Amino acid sequence: MAVTRVELERVFRRGISLTLDALYPSRCVGCHRHGTPLCDTCIASAVPASGEGRCANCAAEWLEPGGYCPRCLGWTRLDGALAAFEHAGVARRSVHALKYGRQTIIAPVMAAAMRDRFDLTGFDAGVAIPLHPSRRKRRGFNQADRLIPHLSLAPLPGQLLRRRKTRSQVGMSLEQRRRNVAGAFAYEGAELDGLRVALIDDVITTGATADECAAVLKDYGAAEVIAVAFTRMSYRPGTPGIED
Ligand SMILES: [Zn+2]
Ligand SMILES: [Zn+2]
Repeated sequence: MAVTRVELERVFRRGISLTLDALYPSRCVGCHRHGTPLCDTCIASAVPASGEGRCANCAAEWLEPGGYCPRCLGWTRLDGALAAFEHAGVARRSVHALKYGRQTIIAPVMAAAMRDRFDLTGFDAGVAIPLHPSRRKRRGFNQADRLIPHLSLAPLPGQLLRRRKTRSQVGMSLEQRRRNVAGAFAYEGAELDGLRVALIDDVITTGATADECAAVLKDYGAAEVIAVAFTRMSYRPGTPGIED
């Protein structure tokens, strides 16, 4: 049976692809090139969550000049938020690759992009927003725990704990999220007298969870608590389903 040239070429291309997969197991989540889970070109194409057209306090889109957007006015304990990128395009795909695709190899690259965009040296300590142990067990890891070792932040002198299991927050409004996470966190350890704390997560959606964590840390003496994330999900009326 004669093998056509087209078939031979297909086999050859498949062979090259498999060889590259073996040599460079990671592929960019944006352009699928081999060699890195997120390439510099794709990072450069992500929309920064800072500058003009953004709320200076919470990094969400806010087109009116000056002041804070209505959304972060709902925060009562959190002092602000920094996010590297808008939660869209390749930045959103990176978050999903880490959290749902379990591609933990992408975490150092995401953390490096965060470090490139913010000066984190002003923080006295950093802590990952904890998952409830049962959710962490199901996922196998906490995505924020994978970012934090690459951010050069000192650890807290104690532990931030998630003591109550909360429902998945996908699709919930700020008010529903606030009720969902009320009283969900606790802190154990030495006082945080006057510390400026970075609260690390992969994505900030409404900020309700970070606000609740900030309340606990401030009860133990933290002077300032800022949420620091890879992406910020801006509010768009009618957007179905805010992701957790
Ligand atoms: Zn790429
Ligand atoms: Zn805001």
